[in-house]
Amino acid sequence: MRKILLFTGFTFLTLLTVSCKKKTSTPKAEGESVQQVADGVSKGKTEAFYSYKRSYVTEDYALYHDNHGRLQIFDTESKTDIVYCFNAGCEHQQAKRDPVTNEVIQKGCIAYEISSDCVMLRENDMVFFQDNGQVIRADRQGENRRMIAIIPLYKLGFREVFYSADTLFISYYTDNRFEEIKGENGQTQWINTGELSDTRECGIYCVNLSDGTVKELFQADAYNAMISCADIWDGHLYFKYFYSDIPAIGPNLETYGRDVEIPEGLTVENYWEEMPKHFWMDVYDYHIATGELKPILRNCREGTLEFCRGFFAVAETDGTTGLYRYSGERFRELPFRIGKGIRSDSGLVCCDEKAMDEYLLIDENTGEIIKRTKISSSKFLAGVIIGKSVYGSLAIPGEGMGLGYISTEDFWNGDLTNAVAFQVQ
Ligand SMILES: [Zn+2]
Repeated sequence: MRKILLFTGFTFLTLLTVSCKKKTSTPKAEGESVQQVADGVSKGKTEAFYSYKRSYVTEDYALYHDNHGRLQIFDTESKTDIVYCFNAGCEHQQAKRDPVTNEVIQKGCIAYEISSDCVMLRENDMVFFQDNGQVIRADRQGENRRMIAIIPLYKLGFREVFYSADTLFISYYTDNRFEEIKGENGQTQWINTGELSDTRECGIYCVNLSDGTVKELFQADAYNAMISCADIWDGHLYFKYFYSDIPAIGPNLETYGRDVEIPEGLTVENYWEEMPKHFWMDVYDYHIATGELKPILRNCREGTLEFCRGFFAVAETDGTTGLYRYSGERFRELPFRIGKGIRSDSGLVCCDEKAMDEYLLIDENTGEIIKRTKISSSKFLAGVIIGKSVYGSLAIPGEGMGLGYISTEDFWNGDLTNAVAFQVQ
C-alpha cells in the first residue's frame, strides 16, 4: 500500500505547481545576482549532483523551471529566486517569431531557451537537455551551445538525473505504448500511439559528457516498473528497481484504461491488505569505471531508507528493518520499522512507520537515533537533504503543495517559519 501511495505521490507532486508572490529585485541586480550564485558552483560540490522533482538542487542553489517555462535560480543564502539571465537590461520575454516562416525576428531571453527538465551547472559550463532528447553543453550564460549526445528514447521524458565522473545517469519510465518506425533518413523514430501499455518500461541511460557516448545500462519492462537512482558512492551508482507481479489496479479495482485482468482473489475489501504483497524491489550496484552491473538485493518486499555514505536500510517482511552496507551485507537491525526514507548526505534520515510526521537521524554505525523532529506532512514533506539545505514539498495556504526550501537547521528544529516556496509567477 505504501508503495502505491508513493508512486501516486511522485506523479501528483510533479504535476503540481504553486504560486508564491515574492518581491523581485531589479533587472540589473538580477544579472549580477545570477552571476554570483552561478559562481558559487566552483566553490565545490561539483563531483556528484542529482535532480529532485525535475529540478537541479545543490546545497547552495536550485535550478528549476517556473510555470512559464522560464529557468529560475534559487539562492539558498538570500532565499530569493531570480530569472536565469545575465543580460542586465533584459525584460525576460520569449523570442518573437514570424507567424508565417517561424523565423526568430527578436531574440528571446535565455531563461526561456533552456526548456528542459534538467539543467546542471558545472564549474565552467552548463549541461542541459532539450525536449527533443539532445544533451547540450553551453557556457554558463547558455550561449555557445553544442550538442554532445542524443538520448535515443527521448519519447520517454526524464525522471531523475545523477551526475558523477563526467557521466550523466538518466532514469526514465513510461506508461505509453510507442510504435517504432524508420524515418526517411533511416533513423528510428517513435510514434506515441496514445494508448497505455499494460506493463511499464523503465531504464537508465548513461551519457559520457567527454566523448558523447550513450549507453543504456539497465532496461526493464514489467508491471509498475520504476527506477530510482539511489546514490553515487566511491565510483559506483546504486539504484532501486521497483516492479510488481500484477498490473496497476486501483483501490476500486480500476485498471486505468489498460486491458488487464483483475488478479484472482483481489477485492475492494481486501485491496489494501493484498496489494503490497505484489510489489517488489531489487537493489543494483553499477561500477562506473568497469561497467559491471550486479544486484545486491533481490525481491525485497518494501521500500528502503535512502542510501547514504555507504549504507542503506530495508524494511523487511519479518517486521524488522535491516541496515545494510552497499556491499549487500546486513550488519545491523534498526529498532523500528521504517516508513519512508529521505535522501540525505548527512546521515540516515527516515520516518518510523508508526510516526510518519517524525523524522529521525540515525547514526549509520551504531544504529542509534541522533536527532528527531516533528513536521506535519500536510505542511512539509522533506525530499532531499544536502548539507545545510533541505528541499521538499511545501504547502502554500489555499494553493496546494509545491517545491520548497528550508535550512537544515530549521528542519531539525521543526521550524517552518522561514520555509520558502520556489517562485512561480
Ligand atoms: Zn532575460
